[in-house]
Amino acid sequence: MALIVQKFGGTSVGSLERIKNVARRVAKARDAGNDVVVVVSAMAGETDRLLKLAKELSPMPDPRELDVVVSTGEQVSVALLSMALLDMGCKARSFLGFQVPMQTDEAFSKARIVRIPNGPIHQALHEGVIPVVAGFQGITKEGRITTLGRGGSDTTAVALGCAIAADVVEIYTDVDGVYTTDPNICPKAKKLAKVSYEEMLEMASLGAKVLQTRCVEFGMNYGMPIHVRSSFNDEEGTWIMKEDESMEREHVTGITCDRKEAKVTLKKVPDRPGIAAAILGPAAERAINVDMIVQNVSTEGFTDFSFTVNRSDLPCAKELIEPVARQVGAEAVETADSIAKVSIVGVGMRSHAGIAKKVFETLAKEGINIQMISTSEIKISVVIDDRYTELAVRALHDAFELDKEP
Ligand code: ADP
Ligand code: ASP
Ligand code: MG
Repeated sequence: MALIVQKFGGTSVGSLERIKNVARRVAKARDAGNDVVVVVSAMAGETDRLLKLAKELSPMPDPRELDVVVSTGEQVSVALLSMALLDMGCKARSFLGFQVPMQTDEAFSKARIVRIPNGPIHQALHEGVIPVVAGFQGITKEGRITTLGRGGSDTTAVALGCAIAADVVEIYTDVDGVYTTDPNICPKAKKLAKVSYEEMLEMASLGAKVLQTRCVEFGMNYGMPIHVRSSFNDEEGTWIMKEDESMEREHVTGITCDRKEAKVTLKKVPDRPGIAAAILGPAAERAINVDMIVQNVSTEGFTDFSFTVNRSDLPCAKELIEPVARQVGAEAVETADSIAKVSIVGVGMRSHAGIAKKVFETLAKEGINIQMISTSEIKISVVIDDRYTELAVRALHDAFELDKEP
């Protein structure tokens, strides 16, 4: 008998028939003698629909009210799933974020969980009730509704699992597990049996949306095993866990792509000490996350300076950077949102030279121009034209033979 948190994503609860399937799966785990806590996302497409609705009314919506709107998708799915469980004769009860309560900070639309009391959930379990908890939403100290960022139900599930000391958190989704790259982009992608927290953290933060980055952080900090698997079959999926001896020692574990960034370039900036701080300071003050930064070698005292930001921050970044560009004497500001960041990730890269060379050669062979590069011990990222994303992912997957058994 175990205490299991089962999280079901949007596609898995995308229709009434699928919600009934989820209810059957939850009941089965319960009937096998386990205590089950369920976390659900909004039905597929619902969060996008709500965001669009709000933005049609107000192009820059009040972030607090926006969170009230977009969190409603999960209110519907927890109630529908609880109803399905009740109809099957299982005791169940829906919990919205404020009823747990999932306490967060005040960073609306990207709130961080600060505390989850385990009392109400344990109480429900003690009474033989299956708690069905709304993913993605939280509540501030002042009682305002927040959301945890796109894909945030994963984080709700793992954070809740840690708070109630669950044995495992199962993430049920529309793929069979974590693959060497997005199987919807590369049909040759191979399912991985185990991935270390460290690698999964990199893969998630570099665009593998199968798990939200923060849920992996929680898993890593609390040593919570996360099992990513399909809600459409009973196959074993992928275990996210501490690095161990049984893990395959490939140099490269996976390839990711992130199509949510945009590039800002200041052309012909006089190259003198302090320009980086002058350019990037205002963005930092407005909590705009700057990711990759490239400053060209200066010629005749001038340089081009580029950086990437989240695409949704581009209008704000542009507004901030234009006066700064005039102030530092740049010739022009250019922006591009048709870029993609493609990365290769693997803890085995630490001790292996020549991987970067192979990445650059592979892309060159396909005629793909690299606009920016960044590396760390366990990843290499390049920014390219978005048009070539699929081509780059597939070419790199082939070059590193990730479809082959080790
Ligand atoms: P859910 O609604 O269940 O949370 P998501 O759409 O958020 O599902 O995440 C699952 C999707 O993640 C898959 O359909 C797949 O396209 C994408 N994905 C990206 N990278 C990977 C990867 N390395 N392995 C598996 N899926 C991936
Ligand atoms: N419904 C939210 C979203 O679409 C949260 C989630 O699915 O995890 O981002
Ligand atoms: Mg998701």
